[in-house]
Amino acid sequence: MFFCNFEHYMSTKLQMKKRVRLIRILLSIGALALLTGGLTLGGMQIPLFAGWIVKVQLLPAVASFSLLTFLLWLCATLLFGRIYCSTVCPMGTVMDIAGRLSRLPVRDGLPANEKRRYRYTHPQTSLRYILLVGVLTCLIGGFMAIPSLIDPYTAYERLCTTILHPLWCSISGSDTTVNPTAATPGTIYPPLMIAMATSAGAAVAVSTILIVAWFACRNGRVLCNTICPVGTTLGMVSRYSVFQMDIDTDLCTQCRRCVDGCKGGCINLDDHTVDSSRCVVCFDCTALCRDNAIRYTATRKQLSIPMMQRTESKRPLGRATAMTKN
Ligand code: SF4
Ligand code: SF4
Ligand code: SF4
Repeated sequence: MFFCNFEHYMSTKLQMKKRVRLIRILLSIGALALLTGGLTLGGMQIPLFAGWIVKVQLLPAVASFSLLTFLLWLCATLLFGRIYCSTVCPMGTVMDIAGRLSRLPVRDGLPANEKRRYRYTHPQTSLRYILLVGVLTCLIGGFMAIPSLIDPYTAYERLCTTILHPLWCSISGSDTTVNPTAATPGTIYPPLMIAMATSAGAAVAVSTILIVAWFACRNGRVLCNTICPVGTTLGMVSRYSVFQMDIDTDLCTQCRRCVDGCKGGCINLDDHTVDSSRCVVCFDCTALCRDNAIRYTATRKQLSIPMMQRTESKRPLGRATAMTKN
């Protein structure tokens, strides 16, 4: 009777975690659809329905000195971790889609091909900070070319305004509004110059999206955790966030399902820690853990001696146990 209740309790918990993950996915896809729709239909004149999703993007907010948006995201990150990266960032959602598609077919929540599963990776802390300092220096110096090249929102906006919007305009028969004069209204540029600027922008946009998708197919959110200046900034805060992923070493059976499904590569089962500066709060790991051992919580629960696992008693030979025996 006790075991029946326990099983029921665990399966209810798992269902709930899967639902939380589903809501997160729906939010991110909704935000991406809204942004894509707004930029495709309106170009640089974004329609009202999509205006708010543009206003909440971080680097544009910083570049336009919108302190309120910046502070709101810092507070949200301090509370919940990098939820920005798992919901409103368009490039994050593009990476998730590319990563997911490249890992089909999926069996039991994980890629059927074991080689396509994720692994823990060591943090590239120095590289992250060097790039962040470089981007900040450019921003302060007014040199926007490099920040706009690696800022995720700007890169996605470029894709929509140089490719999708002109495509929409040609289909619908409306005038294209994409031209380099947007920054300096009133200035008249020759059509050839407009065409060249648009083609260059389109080439950069396509290359960026291809590079991002390629990295996502190989290593999930690796760009988020090495290159992206927004991710590095948020990671500095999420390191101290109130809610974090935490592994209960009493419950963990070292089955490795969470590691195999962690696109951030930030779950280290050797010491049962989750690098919250790289965790993008996607809830994939919590939905994969059948033992309710990894949780999104404000109260950490870790044994001081992580070797004290219940691996042997709870499961027949798991991968970790087999490796130990070899
Ligand atoms: S790290 Fe950068 S690219 Fe990745 S989801 Fe966050 S803001 Fe977007
Ligand atoms: S029991 Fe849960 S936390 Fe432990 S390795 Fe398996 S999935 Fe990860
Ligand atoms: S630790 Fe969990 S929530 Fe964080 S990135 Fe990995 S799978 Fe997503």
